[in-house]
Amino acid sequence: MIIVIKRDASKEQLMHFRSVLEEKYHVTVNSWQGVEATVLGLIGDTTQIDEDWVNAQEVVESVKRVQEPYKKANRKFHPDNTVIELPTGQKIGDGSLCIMAGPCSVENEDQINYVAERVKAAGATFLRGGAFKPRTSPYSFQGLKAEGLDLLKGARKVTGLPIVTEIMRTSHIDMFESVDIIQVGARNMQNFELLKELGKIRKPILLKRGLSSTIEEWIMSAEYIMAGGNDQVILCERGIRTYETATRNTLDLSAVPIIKKLSHLPVIVDPSHATGKAWLVEQMSLAAVAAGADGLMIEVHNDPKHALSDGAQSLTPDQFDKVAAKVFALKHAYDEIVNG
Ligand code: PEP
Ligand code: MN
Repeated sequence: MIIVIKRDASKEQLMHFRSVLEEKYHVTVNSWQGVEATVLGLIGDTTQIDEDWVNAQEVVESVKRVQEPYKKANRKFHPDNTVIELPTGQKIGDGSLCIMAGPCSVENEDQINYVAERVKAAGATFLRGGAFKPRTSPYSFQGLKAEGLDLLKGARKVTGLPIVTEIMRTSHIDMFESVDIIQVGARNMQNFELLKELGKIRKPILLKRGLSSTIEEWIMSAEYIMAGGNDQVILCERGIRTYETATRNTLDLSAVPIIKKLSHLPVIVDPSHATGKAWLVEQMSLAAVAAGADGLMIEVHNDPKHALSDGAQSLTPDQFDKVAAKVFALKHAYDEIVNG
């Protein structure tokens, strides 16, 4: 962190400010006295120093952070990739490609069991399905709620696929006890109270990128969970809001290598919500693999035309078979080309 001191600051004021920094934050403060200005360079862990607080100090002209404001999620402090391993053996972030597939919403027992069997047969490693749905309209289907969770557990029993489903409120954490991976949706990425509570549990959290969130804000949300002691976070790029209207969102694939550079956490891509269109899912899935993603989350529905949510972006099981086969073939080639 670089701090420029006001020209008219007295020596005493500056000395006092330096000692506050050193004693409160345990950083080393280097100082350069120029003709026009004095500049302080802070060495050490500056993650806990609030830039707003620095700016509010009388002697401060300006402040610039030169190190990322996150520590636990930062690759600099944790060079090795985080590998999430489920008690049932599935791994995410170990170089393999995980596929989480299933309907946007769990609708009934036959539907979820059928889709689960089909996606498993095509190579999916996790079953996704929404029980609590964050819908833009209060009049849209809100999910089967607790019954949806039970149906997911039933489908897990039938197929052995671990389940991924979205949580919307803190008071539901107990209800999600036997969910394998808890999803935090785009709309809740900055629900800090929820993130803090999820930091207290010991279960993988799939953190989707907020609709209009920067990569740094997204990693800071992961940091919230990790700061509580839960270091099992998987990031999910699901498209961001831009001026483009041809797609539901704009898939930011550069986020994948950027996350890999900045953080050690695994990152997966959701081409379904990113594009909103089933016909775009195959190409964007392949592109995500080529970008180095650790996995994909794809919506698959037995009858997309009659889906209670997100039918337009859902693949049929037959379409998913083809996409999964191509994705695994590309992953194989990718490993040979990129990883030797
Ligand atoms: C979902 O996965 O069904 C979902 C609602 O996604 P997002 O939070 O990315 O919109
Ligand atoms: Mn959906």
